[in-house]
Amino acid sequence: MRQIIVIGSGPAGYTAAIYAARANLRPLLIASSVEAGGDLMNTTEVENFPGFPEGVMGPDLMDKMQRQAEKFGTEILFEDVTAVDLTGDVKKVTLASGEQHEALAVIFASGSAYRKLGLADEDRLSGRGVSWCATCDGFFFRGRTVAVVGGGDSAMEEATFLSRFADKVYVIHRRDSLRASKIMQERAFADDKIEFVWNAEVDAIHGDDKVTGVTLSDTVTGVKQDLELQGLFVAIGNDPRVHLVHGQLDLTEDGTIAVDGRSSRTNLAGVFAAGDVIDPTYRQAVTAAASGTVAALDAEHYLATLPKTLLANIVAAASDDLATAAV
Ligand code: NAP
Repeated sequence: MRQIIVIGSGPAGYTAAIYAARANLRPLLIASSVEAGGDLMNTTEVENFPGFPEGVMGPDLMDKMQRQAEKFGTEILFEDVTAVDLTGDVKKVTLASGEQHEALAVIFASGSAYRKLGLADEDRLSGRGVSWCATCDGFFFRGRTVAVVGGGDSAMEEATFLSRFADKVYVIHRRDSLRASKIMQERAFADDKIEFVWNAEVDAIHGDDKVTGVTLSDTVTGVKQDLELQGLFVAIGNDPRVHLVHGQLDLTEDGTIAVDGRSSRTNLAGVFAAGDVIDPTYRQAVTAAASGTVAALDAEHYLATLPKTLLANIVAAASDDLATAAV
């Protein structure tokens, strides 16, 4: 049995692991099989993470965080968690391989998943013109016409990135003003290849094997128009990944895991949550990292309140494991 298991490998998960490892708690971090590193793995340059005045590529930043966590003794498994049992004193985490791990404390840093438009053909044409990641798929649209849906920072980032490849980039936004930060807006407005379609919602996506166009409807007048394009990038935000904890952890109205005030404490003793999965508002790499710190410190304090005999058993069990491994 472990003292701490961290679920998730974005800035919140890795930072929690760095702090827990430096507190000598030998955390196990479950990083996911395909989404290890979280959202920043799909980002190009990160310009607002302190300490990198020249910017840093998202995947490089996550690689550094991973190495920093490992340096202090975090063990990392690149597997998916399929089930958790958080209700008892001993928390159980089951992986896709069937392996089960136990710990006295669990930190949930499972992040968030791309939001979908909810249209009939969205999934069918996913990977055939519909995408949620310009840095992953933008290259395939060299010389083509594409559209980005959304009015936030992600949509501006996607549109600006896509204009390197595509001949034309529409930004389809349901209102007539953007939610994105000023600097991201100005960058998009200054880009000749980007054209904004205001007050517009995507009604339908067309195409048999590949996307050929969309039908838009005007959110003010209701008037419909067709737009020919080959790529549709959906950048309308994220939803917290909470499917594993339904029925065990309390959620907020926003769908995030509910925590006690500014702490990371959930409704269950020994279960802590950090990063995008508790944050409907700020959702920055820096705030996620800070949130991971809070969770590690809360978990450390929690473990310190547990009976010494319980902790001694864990240390003894860990020594036995090491001895067995050495034989
Ligand atoms: P966001 O800020 O929540 O913006 C989502 C956008 O999608 C909004 O403009 C929203 O429209 C629109 N939208 C939501 N649901 C929709 C639907 N069903 N149909 C059509 N449009 C819909 O999400 P985000 O852009 O992913 O950003 C999330 C957080 O990450 C933010 O805090 C952002 O600052 C941060 N971020 C930062 C950077 C950076 O600094 N480089 C890059 C990316 C993201 P309304 O405006 O009408 O609500």
